[in-house]
Amino acid sequence: MDQEAVPPHVLIFPLPLQGPVNSMLKLAELLCLSGLHITFLVTDHIHTRLVKYSNIQSRFNGYPGFRLETISDGLPEDHPRFGAVLMEMFDSLKIKTKILLKDLLTSGKLNSDSRRPVTCIIGDGIMGFTCDVANDVGLPIIYVRTISACCLWVFFCLPKLIESGEIPFTGNDLDTPIKSIPGMEGFFRRRDLPMFCRSGSLSDPNLNLYLPEATENSRAHGLILNTFDDLEGPILAHIRAFCPNLYTIGPLHSHLKYKLPGQSLSSSNSLWKEDMSCITWLDSQPPKSVLYVSFGSLAVMTKEQYMEFWHGLVDSGSRFLWVIRPDSVTSDPMDIPSELSKGTKERGYIVQWAPQEEVLAHRAVGGFLTHSGWNSTLESVIEGVPMICWPYFLDQQVNSRYVGEVWKLGLDMKDTCDRVIIEKTVRELMEYRKDEFWKSADEMAKYAKQCLMEGGSSYGNLERLVNDIKAM
Ligand code: UDP
Repeated sequence: MDQEAVPPHVLIFPLPLQGPVNSMLKLAELLCLSGLHITFLVTDHIHTRLVKYSNIQSRFNGYPGFRLETISDGLPEDHPRFGAVLMEMFDSLKIKTKILLKDLLTSGKLNSDSRRPVTCIIGDGIMGFTCDVANDVGLPIIYVRTISACCLWVFFCLPKLIESGEIPFTGNDLDTPIKSIPGMEGFFRRRDLPMFCRSGSLSDPNLNLYLPEATENSRAHGLILNTFDDLEGPILAHIRAFCPNLYTIGPLHSHLKYKLPGQSLSSSNSLWKEDMSCITWLDSQPPKSVLYVSFGSLAVMTKEQYMEFWHGLVDSGSRFLWVIRPDSVTSDPMDIPSELSKGTKERGYIVQWAPQEEVLAHRAVGGFLTHSGWNSTLESVIEGVPMICWPYFLDQQVNSRYVGEVWKLGLDMKDTCDRVIIEKTVRELMEYRKDEFWKSADEMAKYAKQCLMEGGSSYGNLERLVNDIKAM
């Protein structure tokens, strides 16, 4: 076959975590739709879960240009991977997977009669080894970061923060303003920085992982961000000084709704089994009456924190749908005092994993108590659902400050876990100030949707990305 007539072939390699896998699969689908050939590379661990719980195989049957390929993360099968040992996975990827990735690209295994050899790599900027491999084998690489631009900008400024002596610090004086991050003067405090800045140590492994972000991200041909210009425009201007070729194409998960209007797009990229019964329960609830509660795929809480949430939610009088992953509480999660479980029967519903995008789009949902993961935040933004933020780690402390203080899309409850405050905050969002929050959330949702439509910034940037890949 004339190789020139065959479409370009992109290898996409997401960070092996639920959030990045979810958004990169959406990107893969969009690129397939534009006629590109895609090899989607996942670790064996992610592959097992995707095949078991998502509908990836049936969904991508409609895309002959899509292939799923696996690679080892170098860890034993029974390694927990997440939680306290997350860093072990990063280390193993950097050392062991790097070698395997180079072998895979040079082995010819990804080529066939109907496919060109890989013409471009899209890799997560936090896995800098993908750029080393791309350089070794002579391929262009585009990075993607699946965190917010505001947090990425904080990462870019880490060297400056160290130089000015603003970090590291310990858990004290958390309301001290931060001065060395251009664009964040006046509202950004110590407590809004990623948690690792509070460790009091320059040798914190997380700090060292994110310290080279500015130099690392500028090594690639371009940088894809899952955000949109109307949301993070001023911060994007700062990032462009380091990475001029930015593709802001978010909210990534919603493009298909506009590209394929009228089609049912039940795309589940879940690594856990979705409990669809919660949709039936939501169907029987009044409009905007339910607070959806979920802390994503990685956050864990202590039994004490969990009990504070229980009391706070029950005492608030609000209806709620709560996702409690089996591994999310550091002791038996089903050990609920009987008076609490009785009290919530009619107005509380618990599942282990929910079809989140569908839940947030449901007319019964009026608020989201979230850990402020970036995917969850964007999924809430586009559906116009106001948020209560209880950030756990990484970009979440930054995101929650922006949600509360800059975008005015909800309330930031970071660094507290007290039943009285939880009750009060839920009442504020769902009752006393609901009109104010719905109005601002509605406005931002409109901007998000406009960005995705023809003529919108994310729509145009996605087209530019496809054209650039075709020209490589
Ligand atoms: N999610 C889901 N069902 C749930 C909880 C979460 O499908 O019950 C999805 C959610 O839609 C999002 C992802 O898991 O796409 C979580 O990503 P996020 O960046 O918000 O947080 P992380 O899990 O990385 O901390």
